[in-house]
Amino acid sequence: MNKQNVIVIGAGPAGIFTALELYNKFGDDYAVTVVDEGLAIDRRHCPARQKGQCVRCKPCNIMSGWAGAGAFSDGKLSLSEEVGGNVTDYLSVDKTRELIRYADSIYLQYGAPETVFGLNDRKVEEISYECSKHNIHLVPCPVRHMGTEYSYEVLKNMYDALLKKPGFTFLERTHADPIIQDGRAVGAVLATRGKEPVEVFADYIVAAPGRGGAAWLNKIAKENNIHVTNNEVDIGVRVEVPNSVMDDLTKHLYEAKMVYYSDTFENKVRTFCMNPGGIVSEEHYDEEFSDSFNKKSIAVVNGHSYADEGSHTQNTNFALLVSTKFTEPFNQPIEYGRYIAQLGNMLTGGGIVVQRLGDLLMGRRTDKTRLAKSTTVPTLKTAVPGDLSFVLPHRHLTSIIEALRAFDKVAPGLYSKNTLLYGVEVKFYSSKIDVDENFRTAIDGLYAIGDGAGITRGLMQASVTGVVVARDIAERTEA
Ligand SMILES: Cc1cc2nc3c(=O)[nH]c(=O)nc-3n(C[C@H](O)[C@H](O)[C@H](O)COP(=O)(O)OP(=O)(O)OC[C@H]3O[C@@H](n4cnc5c(N)ncnc54)[C@H](O)[C@@H]3O)c2cc1C
Repeated sequence: MNKQNVIVIGAGPAGIFTALELYNKFGDDYAVTVVDEGLAIDRRHCPARQKGQCVRCKPCNIMSGWAGAGAFSDGKLSLSEEVGGNVTDYLSVDKTRELIRYADSIYLQYGAPETVFGLNDRKVEEISYECSKHNIHLVPCPVRHMGTEYSYEVLKNMYDALLKKPGFTFLERTHADPIIQDGRAVGAVLATRGKEPVEVFADYIVAAPGRGGAAWLNKIAKENNIHVTNNEVDIGVRVEVPNSVMDDLTKHLYEAKMVYYSDTFENKVRTFCMNPGGIVSEEHYDEEFSDSFNKKSIAVVNGHSYADEGSHTQNTNFALLVSTKFTEPFNQPIEYGRYIAQLGNMLTGGGIVVQRLGDLLMGRRTDKTRLAKSTTVPTLKTAVPGDLSFVLPHRHLTSIIEALRAFDKVAPGLYSKNTLLYGVEVKFYSSKIDVDENFRTAIDGLYAIGDGAGITRGLMQASVTGVVVARDIAERTEA
C-alpha cells in the first residue's frame, strides 16, 4: 500500500467521523485508511442476538468492526454536552454544542430519524422538580433515538458513502500498531488476520480504539511517555423492570439520566443507557484488551432496544452504575473492573448472573424456581440465576440498593421484589490519555480520540472528537 495521508485505527464513530470530515475538507482523492480488528459492517452478526447464545466471536462482533461498539448500539444520540463524555474538558461549552449540532446534522444526513425526545420543557421540568424532592439530580439531555436498526443503517450508509471515495480504504480483521520514530508517528504496522504484517506510512495516525482497546492505547502511551491519568471505573448492574414502572419517565425523556449520592458511602450512583421496551444483552471484552496479570476474556451485561415498536418487549432496562475514582498508589482501574466481572463469570460458568432484588435483600440466591415466580420475565435468557452479593463489593451493592430505593420515589415499583438485577455491568473509561484541545498527543502526528482515549462515553461525543481531529489536520495541512 502506498503512503497514506491518514491512518485511522478503529472504525467506531470516532474513526468514522474523522474519515467523513477529512473527505469534507480534502475531497475524494485524499488517502485515508481506516483499519479495524473486526469485520465490515455488512458482515457483522452477533450470534447471541440471533440464536440467544453467545459463541464468543473473536473479536466480539458487538464491540468490533465497522461502526465499533456503535453498530448494534441503541443509537441514542445524546444532544447535550453534559452527557456522553468529557469533551468540555478540552473545548468550550459553546464550541462543544456547535460541534454536537454539526455531528447531529451528519447523522440526519445519513438517515437518522427526525424525532428528538426530552424537548418538552414543561414536562421535563416537572420531572426534574419531583426528583429534587428526593435528592435526585435529573441531568437534562435531549436524545435523538436511532434504535438498533437505524443505528446500523445510518453507520452502514456512512460506510457505503466512504467506499465510493477513490482515496478511501477500509481494512477489516486488521490490528494496527503505530510506528513511532524519533518522537513522531510516521505510520502503522497493519496485521491483517492470515497475512504477514505490513508497514504503511502516513502523515498522521489517529488512534480511536474504543473502550475495548483502552488498555492497548494505554500501553502505547506508557511506552512513549505520554502521560496517562486514571479515570473513574463504573461498576454496577443492569436493572430490568416492566415498562409500566418507567413509562412516565421514558415517555417524555426517553432516557432519564438520574444521579443519586448513596446514603452510606456518598458514592455517585447514576442511571445510564435506558432502553424502554428493550432487551438485556451480553457482550465480551477480549483478553488482548488487558494488561498485566488478568488476561481472561470477560462477559459483561449491556442493553439495547429497537426503534420499531413492533420489536418492543414488555420490559425497560437500564444500567445502575457506581463511579469509583482511585487515587494512589493503585493505578489499575480497568483491571479492578475486569476482576469483578470475572467473579460474576466464575459463578455462572462464564456468563451473566441475574438476581431478583427481593432475593438479594433477603440474603439468598435466586435459583430457577424463584426466577420462574418473577413477574418480570428476563429478556436475557442465557443469564444464570445467582447471588450478586458474592460478586459485587459491599460498597457497590449497598449504593445500588440505596439508589434503587431513592429512584423508586419517582418511578414507583422500581424497588420491588421482582426487579431483576443482572451483573456485572462495567464501563471502562479508564486512563485519560494526555491530549491537547485538538486531541494531539505528545507524539507529533499521533492523535487519540473517542472512548478509548478516556475522553468520551457515547456515540455523539466520540463522533465530535473525530470532527475536531480532521479539522485540525486540515488546518495543519493548509498552514
Ligand atoms: C451494546 C452497546 C450499546 C450502546 N448504546 C449506546 C447508545 O445508545 N448511545 C450512545 O451514545 N452510546 C452507546 N454505546 C456506547 C457507544 O457505542 C460508544 O461510546 C462509541 O461506539 C465509542 O466510539 P469509539 O469510536 O470511541 O469506539 P468504538 O465504537 O468502541 O470503536 C473502536 C473500534 O476500534 C477497534 N480497535 C481497537 N483497537 C484496535 C487496534 N489496535 N487495531 C485495529 N482496530 C482496533 C475495535 O475493534 C472497535 O471496532 C453503546 C455501547 C454498547 C456496547
